[in-house]
Amino acid sequence: MARLTRSREGVHRGGEVLALLAAGAILVGLVGRLCHAAPTSGAQSWPSAEHGPLTEAAWPTASAYQPAWLLARASQSTSTGRLAPIWRASSTAARVPEPTVLALLAAVDFDRCQRDLRRLTGMERLCAGSRCGTIGNRLTGGPGLELALDYFLEELGRLGYEPQIEAWQGRQVADRNVLVRKTGVVSPTEEVFVVAHVDGVGSCPGPVCPAADDNGSGAVATLELARVFAGTSFARSVVLLFTTGEEQGMVGAQAFIARRSREELRAIHGLINVDMLGYDGNGDNVVELYYGEHPPSVELAQRIRQAIETYVPALRPRPDPGCG
Ligand SMILES: [Zn+2]
Repeated sequence: MARLTRSREGVHRGGEVLALLAAGAILVGLVGRLCHAAPTSGAQSWPSAEHGPLTEAAWPTASAYQPAWLLARASQSTSTGRLAPIWRASSTAARVPEPTVLALLAAVDFDRCQRDLRRLTGMERLCAGSRCGTIGNRLTGGPGLELALDYFLEELGRLGYEPQIEAWQGRQVADRNVLVRKTGVVSPTEEVFVVAHVDGVGSCPGPVCPAADDNGSGAVATLELARVFAGTSFARSVVLLFTTGEEQGMVGAQAFIARRSREELRAIHGLINVDMLGYDGNGDNVVELYYGEHPPSVELAQRIRQAIETYVPALRPRPDPGCG
């Protein structure tokens, strides 16, 4: 696994932006793959609180993933291109593949992601600690989500992280968020966040499967990030945050913010919220990047767009100021 390197010239400059670029490239590399259409499986539909029910003739097959597809063009270059600071997007920055990002991309195990998704959606039995079960749903406050989070905690601990649990209490529901933090080796007080909600609506068995796309896909992708990031160092600290209560109005995320000081919130230099990356409804390979109108967010979206074009050229990024 590649690491942030120190040389006579100083710290590897790519490390400054590596975390977000790697996260962006890896996450979009999974777009449309996790719930890729499998003609041999029966039609199922997954509910989406944001967009209403989606009808998907889909369950993923392991063969849907082609690592070569991800790296086809990116791996042609061996250049150690320097990346510009993340808040100063340029037309050329990040267009030369960064070897460390390529190494991280190569470490992504899509079969592992699909296995996690099957476990999160009741397609496969899930064990965490001494407890095993089949998840029927991941409703906030329910036993299915509890088992899913226990599994995440176990996996994160096994990887060497020290996961933190933050219980929260809403007006009508209560649950917990889980987060891990990799301390940066250059600017540890500056943080980069990747956030995914683990809760979902819908139950199995029945015609509706429990939230495979929204947001089993984002949750397992972020867990996979934890795996491939485990042996890597970054300039800034990286925080992977798994929230609950999203479907009740982002209650868990709001609780997370509410208990942070102004200084702690200021330390967050970038954040990617990963939601519903598992299904490409019309098969157009378009990745939607919602960013709002806050200028740094616009620049971040442009950087992620560049990362997509550089590392996953088969996908077409579409920045969209919605969801601001
Ligand atoms: Zn969602």
